[in-house]
Amino acid sequence: MDSIDFQTTFDTDEYIFNEGDPGNCAYIIDSGMVEVALDKDGRKLVVATLTKGEILGEMAIIDRLPRSASARAVVPTEVTAIPLDYVSQKIEQSDPTVRMFLRLAMARYRDLNSRLGQVFEGLSLGQGDASSDACESTMELKNVVSQFAEMQKRIDSAVTKSTPAEVGSLFGEETLEITKLLVTEEKLLKAAMTKKEFRLHYQPIVDLANNRIVGCEALVRWNHPSGEQLLPSRFINQVEDSGLIIDLGYWIAEEACSFQSRLFNDFQHDLFVAINLSGKQFEDQFLIPSLADIMDRTGARREQIKFEITESLLIDNPELATQSLHQLKETGAKLAIDDFGTGYSSFSYLHRFPFDTLKIDRVFVSAMSRSEKSNRIVKSLVNLSHDLGMDVVAEGIETEQEAQLMRNFKAALGQGFYFSRPVNETEFVKLLRQSKIELAG
Ligand code: C2E
Ligand code: CA
Ligand code: CA
Repeated sequence: MDSIDFQTTFDTDEYIFNEGDPGNCAYIIDSGMVEVALDKDGRKLVVATLTKGEILGEMAIIDRLPRSASARAVVPTEVTAIPLDYVSQKIEQSDPTVRMFLRLAMARYRDLNSRLGQVFEGLSLGQGDASSDACESTMELKNVVSQFAEMQKRIDSAVTKSTPAEVGSLFGEETLEITKLLVTEEKLLKAAMTKKEFRLHYQPIVDLANNRIVGCEALVRWNHPSGEQLLPSRFINQVEDSGLIIDLGYWIAEEACSFQSRLFNDFQHDLFVAINLSGKQFEDQFLIPSLADIMDRTGARREQIKFEITESLLIDNPELATQSLHQLKETGAKLAIDDFGTGYSSFSYLHRFPFDTLKIDRVFVSAMSRSEKSNRIVKSLVNLSHDLGMDVVAEGIETEQEAQLMRNFKAALGQGFYFSRPVNETEFVKLLRQSKIELAG
């Protein structure tokens, strides 16, 4: 996959692929013109001429058969490649019925193409016979001509499914653009792992009674080649969809656990470090032993590592969640339920799963000062958590008023821009040197 150039220019008469080649990618034409042709016993049969916005080579990457035609650039042509790996992963993850229909449609399309090719051959033979045989009647010749016209129409409708207008109505211009963006971005994401462009920032979590830092949450950032530092909202979904979250997740765990170990050994601060785990990571059967191994290798204190899990894991796959969370708990690490209250939160989760901490989502925290209802929800969440032996972190505290309300509700811990934004390791250590967080205003 890495050998494919994602944006490539072909010169006039250069072949993009040849009939019989293995199909390792499809192409979107960015500019120029491509002629798609079959070879019929040494004779060229042009089946389509494609221009900007049209797609070619898609059949081979769906049914994985060799290319059934050749594609040649008629003028200098620029294309974006969509690699087989990229598409096959999406196809394998799709609904089995969709997969079946897709393959069926491809098989029929290929079959129709080949039959139309044979008819073409027969027709040209017929024409040859007619001209050489003086006995052929004018009637038969007319028949051949009208059959030819009819076949031409059928071929046109069968093989030129990708005229710009039809492509537009099938996928929409935006879908094409998004596909191109996603393909390019995914390549950048994969390269980002090897080029070490990801960084962890740490946001302090404070004891609300005295504003002292007791822990932090590790939050990933991407130093994008464009020079911008991207927040997870810009890339985390794609990291998950592409499966890269498995490798990235291990890298994050390793970094965050080393950080916990350094804080303890080098700076004599015994703080907890919270690590976000996405539901996708639990599909990896080696997740728990690997995390245990990472905690050991890095010298992190297991009881000071806290894994944050959102409700979606519990809802989407309760059996897997029950088993995994109990195993994770057995490693000696702590567990937190993240963003509580934003999904289909059910209080039953709180005693079914072995959580140590409940993180109240910032939507409730920020709504507290405006809405009496949110106030009561937060208050009862705090009480319930304490009854169940869990501690509480109020997320997204932005003002002293919010901090004060949480103190009144006896929520012990808080996190939010009011105390500090997520910062890099050096800045975090500077914050630790202050006896407590210095607050603006
Ligand atoms: P989260 O786990 O809820 O993380 C807290 C997010 O809230 C962080 O955004 C943080 O910067 C932001 N935040 C903290 N205090 C405030 C505040 O006072 N006001 C406002 N408006 N926002 C605040 P960030 O870093 O952009 O992360 C967003 C989400 O991305 C995280 O939400 C988490 O779901 C995901 N994420 C981040 N890092 C990782 C990671 O390492 N692994 C995984 N799987 N997901 C991650
Ligand atoms: Ca979190
Ligand atoms: Ca959260």
